[in-house]
Amino acid sequence: MADATAGERSGKVVIRNVGLMLSGDIDRPILDADTVVVVDGRIAAVEREADCDTSDAKTVVDARGTCLCPGLIDSHVHPVFGDWTPRQGQLGWIDSSMHGGVTTMISAGEVHLPGRPKDIVGLKALAITAQRAFDNFRPGGVKVLAGAPVIEKGMVESDFRELAESGVKLLGEIGLGSVKGGTEAATMVKWARRHGIQSTIHTGGPSIPGSGLIDKDVVLEADADIIGHINGGHTALSAAHVCELCERSTRAIEIVHNGNEKVALAAARAALELKCPHRVILGTDGPAGSGVQPLGILRMVAMLSSFADIPAEIAFCFATGNTARVRALDCGLIEVGRAADLVFMDRAQHTVGRTLLESVGLGDLPGVGMVMIDGLVRCGRSRNTPPATEVPMVVESRGTHAH
Ligand SMILES: [Zn+2]
Repeated sequence: MADATAGERSGKVVIRNVGLMLSGDIDRPILDADTVVVVDGRIAAVEREADCDTSDAKTVVDARGTCLCPGLIDSHVHPVFGDWTPRQGQLGWIDSSMHGGVTTMISAGEVHLPGRPKDIVGLKALAITAQRAFDNFRPGGVKVLAGAPVIEKGMVESDFRELAESGVKLLGEIGLGSVKGGTEAATMVKWARRHGIQSTIHTGGPSIPGSGLIDKDVVLEADADIIGHINGGHTALSAAHVCELCERSTRAIEIVHNGNEKVALAAARAALELKCPHRVILGTDGPAGSGVQPLGILRMVAMLSSFADIPAEIAFCFATGNTARVRALDCGLIEVGRAADLVFMDRAQHTVGRTLLESVGLGDLPGVGMVMIDGLVRCGRSRNTPPATEVPMVVESRGTHAH
């Protein structure tokens, strides 16, 4: 398992013979292309093979007709340190999620740290430490954007400025700390925004003993950038209130695995009816009481596609390009200039769906055949998904020449 963030570079990588190119862009989810060229971790071309310069590649991957999709983004996780979660006492959960196609995770707060400090100096120190630690360490190659402080009563604007100047770009879920009122939350959200820190609010009933209810009026008044787990984590607001949030707020609609599935469908349908499917983003909210879900994002895509009749190619955008746009990330789309964070998938063996997209629309999970992060192969056939019918092959791999 390679964990370093720096050092190894992909050089030139050619991915050819792609059978289905999913862009991650909800306005144009399928691309007419069969080849991607990567140079030093960035996508340099997305074309038909005849139109690409495929010469002198360090690595050539034959996709063997499988589907190429941007790496999945989990918009809502609770990491602590390294590839360990104390919530259920598990190791390797991030690497395991990479085998589920996840290449980027976004912390909604490092709330499971045993003895987590709640005083203001302590919570700032933890956030800065978590940001630094995950910036230096990528379990399984996964980019974990962490350092998401849980705001507490008594914080002042200079605390947010100090956090921003120290590299903190996110707030943990508002509502997990002592700030639970709409007015107070709104003030801190504004301070955060002024200093370039993005905010997420917990929506719904308490997640664990000690957390509280955040109802629709608090969510609307706080006006955080992300309506965090709009379908509850776990306990949801009423479907009517969730639809009202979709309608009255313009913020991102985050749907999570560890929430209420019926309300997840209501939220997704509301977003489609309101003609704002670009606001829908997906997370797991793991690790949590429900455990770790290495396939959680794929399960959300299949669940929404099959139950809400959302074309699978659109549902994949909820977990890729939509999140990248909302979160201002440089991944999430198969587009020139983006990070080459890619997942190769095929229909699972013996699914009744005749194509990958049809199988997902029927509620089956796809098989992951390879995951690439910054142009580097992080895994071949997934140890976690059902086996893919076809998997890509590295057909050429030149080592670095000694000079
Ligand atoms: Zn929550």
